[in-house]
Amino acid sequence: MTSERFDILIVGAGPAGSFAAEKLARKGVCVALFDGRPAGEPKACGGGVTSKALKAWPHLLEAVGRTISDLDLYSPAGKKLHLKLEEPFAIYSRTAFDSHLRERAREAGAHIKAFRVSFNQRTNEEDDWVLRGRNGDEWRAPMLVAADGAGSRIAKELAGQLPPSEMEVAFGYRTPLPEGKDAPTVVAFLPGYAGYAWAFPRVDHISFGIATSQDAFDHQALDQLLWKFMVGYYRQRENAKAHLWHSRPQDEEGDALIRRELEATAERYAARIPGLAAKTLDTRRAAGKGWALLGDAAGFADPVTGEGIYYALRSAELFSESYLEGVPLDYEKRWRGDFGRELRRAAEMRQRFYGNFWGAPFTERMIELGRGHRGIKRVLRELVAGDQGYVNLKRKLARSAIWPL
Ligand SMILES: Cc1cc2nc3c(=O)[nH]c(=O)nc-3n(C[C@H](O)[C@H](O)[C@H](O)COP(=O)(O)OP(=O)(O)OC[C@H]3O[C@@H](n4cnc5c(N)ncnc54)[C@H](O)[C@@H]3O)c2cc1C
Repeated sequence: MTSERFDILIVGAGPAGSFAAEKLARKGVCVALFDGRPAGEPKACGGGVTSKALKAWPHLLEAVGRTISDLDLYSPAGKKLHLKLEEPFAIYSRTAFDSHLRERAREAGAHIKAFRVSFNQRTNEEDDWVLRGRNGDEWRAPMLVAADGAGSRIAKELAGQLPPSEMEVAFGYRTPLPEGKDAPTVVAFLPGYAGYAWAFPRVDHISFGIATSQDAFDHQALDQLLWKFMVGYYRQRENAKAHLWHSRPQDEEGDALIRRELEATAERYAARIPGLAAKTLDTRRAAGKGWALLGDAAGFADPVTGEGIYYALRSAELFSESYLEGVPLDYEKRWRGDFGRELRRAAEMRQRFYGNFWGAPFTERMIELGRGHRGIKRVLRELVAGDQGYVNLKRKLARSAIWPL
């Protein structure tokens, strides 16, 4: 049994933990970074990284991934809006993305420990935190950073448990890349549910998935919907006019064959994404004396889209800056001043975004308007890029509709 002491213990080497470890280690802080994920097992994720994130941290483009400059958006009724993006976003396999960030942390001098660790609450604020490995090894430090994801045990203990209504559920399948033409990148708003399905082609496979709220989660029905979407996607490779959600009678046999072939190779994945309510964002703390929560552990994901990678990286950056300036508790003020308002606005908008507007789903109207209106299309392009926030989205859409660009 060994016992080691560090300045900071970071639990979780996803984007949040690795990025914080890199930033701190570069400035000479003695950091231990723990992750118990088995080598080669990817975190369940679409792996989409907005152009806003790529502009903020250009080194992300060094990770092996695909840059995407064309996106097909589908309405719940199956209407398509093709967006040519001025600023591409990227899609990564999370194995490649996470190893890129972890290697940067290692090169910067962080001590990487490939172990799952357990944590106990301190009895006294002046005490060191102690993490323990399975074989009884111990690691101590005066500062503990939880970057251990949506199911964070540490966050539950230090900031409180989140209700199930503040968790999104996302699941999907990894399937082979179809042969021939380029595989399109697709986001399709779900018929009858809040949320969307995606098809994100990566370097050697496609990540399909559905993100929806845990409250509305009807696993069997949503799984069937995702299979229809996947089959529709492959069917469209042969016939661009095929519907994404329904088989035409003449395609039924062929579609059944596509499904059987996919079932033989598809690998399933599932996980949760935090989607905090505005009230929780107002009251839940992400920092206290000697501790901080980053990324999903803090609940920092967009409640409308489930996008969390940007917030994982940005929270890591804001915490590291506060710590290095000798004011770690300022992190709380900084995340609120930086992206807190945006997340709060997204939380307030969620219901309306997936609700009705002029007698149809808002997402249906948004795509219909985007198909006929250059101004609206431009705002949607900016939304996908991550450059258009929710704070002024309504005003921007209304203005674009009145003054076409
Ligand atoms: C299906 C799905 C699709 C998604 N698609 C997208 C997308 O396209 N774009 C996007 O921006 N976001 C997406 N997200 C959200 C995104 O995955 C998260 O917001 C992001 O991974 C958060 O990063 P993180 O570093 O906070 O946590 P994580 O990436 O979850 O990393 C946490 C790490 O902590 C480790 N860990 C946990 N407990 C312990 C322990 N006790 N000891 C040691 N290690 C531990 C885990 O092994 C894990 O590696 C998606 C999420 C899901 C579930």
